[in-house]
Amino acid sequence: MRANSFLELNWLARHDKYILLPPVVFANLDYGGFFRHPCKEETLVGESYYPLDRGLIAVGIQSDPDVKDIASCLAHEWRHCWQYYQMPQDKCVEWDSKSLLSYRQKIVTFFRSSRAEYDALQFELKVAPTEWSLQWNEWLVKAGEVIG
Ligand SMILES: [Zn+2]
Repeated sequence: MRANSFLELNWLARHDKYILLPPVVFANLDYGGFFRHPCKEETLVGESYYPLDRGLIAVGIQSDPDVKDIASCLAHEWRHCWQYYQMPQDKCVEWDSKSLLSYRQKIVTFFRSSRAEYDALQFELKVAPTEWSLQWNEWLVKAGEVIG
């Protein structure tokens, strides 16, 4: 798969037809991906600008992306898009790559600090689980209740 390739989402369930379908952009990111909500601006992904009139999902790909990881990332970011229309008051959190916590502590903190992130993880586990997302969920279960 090439960076900056483009995918249309036209498979939306009938009851979600009111959702503006965001374009999906594949780019070399050093993290999984992101969703930007619809607005009148543009966003820079990789080396290209994309309009945000329908929002945008970016999926990070590295040199040899695993199709399971791409599916899982798409599921996660799509859920954030769905959340934007369902519960826009729930804020997502930024991944803190500078944190000195262990990777496991960072994962637990990230998913416990936002109900939206926890919900997106549960959705990705339901439709496109990976070994990583299963591991993250196991750490969360062991860490106790989600605060949100
Ligand atoms: Zn997320």
